[in-house]
Amino acid sequence: MPESKLRILVIGAHPDDCDVSAGGVATLYRQLGHSVRFVSVTNGESGHQRIHGEELADIRRKEAAAAGELLGIRYDVLNHRDGYLLPTLEARDEIIGLIRDERPDLILTHRPNDYHPDHRYTSQLVCDAAYMVTVPAVVTDAPALRDNPVIAYVADDFMRPYPFSPTVVVDIEPVLSSVIDLLDCHKSQFYDWLPYNFQTEDEVPDDPIARREWMGEWYCRRIVSRADRFRDQLIAIYGEAAGGRVRYVEAFEPCEYGSPLTEENRRKLFPFLP
Ligand SMILES: [Zn+2]
Repeated sequence: MPESKLRILVIGAHPDDCDVSAGGVATLYRQLGHSVRFVSVTNGESGHQRIHGEELADIRRKEAAAAGELLGIRYDVLNHRDGYLLPTLEARDEIIGLIRDERPDLILTHRPNDYHPDHRYTSQLVCDAAYMVTVPAVVTDAPALRDNPVIAYVADDFMRPYPFSPTVVVDIEPVLSSVIDLLDCHKSQFYDWLPYNFQTEDEVPDDPIARREWMGEWYCRRIVSRADRFRDQLIAIYGEAAGGRVRYVEAFEPCEYGSPLTEENRRKLFPFLP
């Protein structure tokens, strides 16, 4: 058990977003005995080509629970409808209450610019809850925090209005297999919906072991370009030799509305970095 246990809160729009964007660091935190909580703001009820509504939401709650069990963490799926999330005052209060309940040292979430409206509004809700979590007159039934948590955005490939600009880049290759195990819990997504969406349904193997391997290769192809994109930061963090060899990363960009992510608290908040 570490001297002082960190509390990490990952807030994604859909049940699987936390796993996809932060499954690697979540595994690294857990290996060091820190606390991690995943939250999906929507119920995932629209993420399938044949099943939807409550039937799909139920499947996805179970998939999220399985991923949570693998990591040994709490994985909440809130009740907002997938595809219909709006950054309302009610939803903001709900996120303020959730952050106050968790008292996180670090929150990870989407950037406000993203292809999916639910991702954008999840980010908006977290940004709107930042600072307000310290205001006692707001959401009076949940005691206000004294400190605004550090907030960081998870990696994406969008270019406008500016490309993702991380200050923290983490080598996740040592835990890559655990990340793929997390994704493998979300069967409705990685073996049904995403192959349908990407029109690669014909490629999905029937055999569970073969399809996990197929999905793992797909995931690696999807993220492999990021190590080169952030090579300078990798070398700054891991040194010339080790930083030059890293192949698979997760990366995090500070959100200005949280407490600042400084050189000093970066060491505390990302204890697995050298
Ligand atoms: Zn999503």
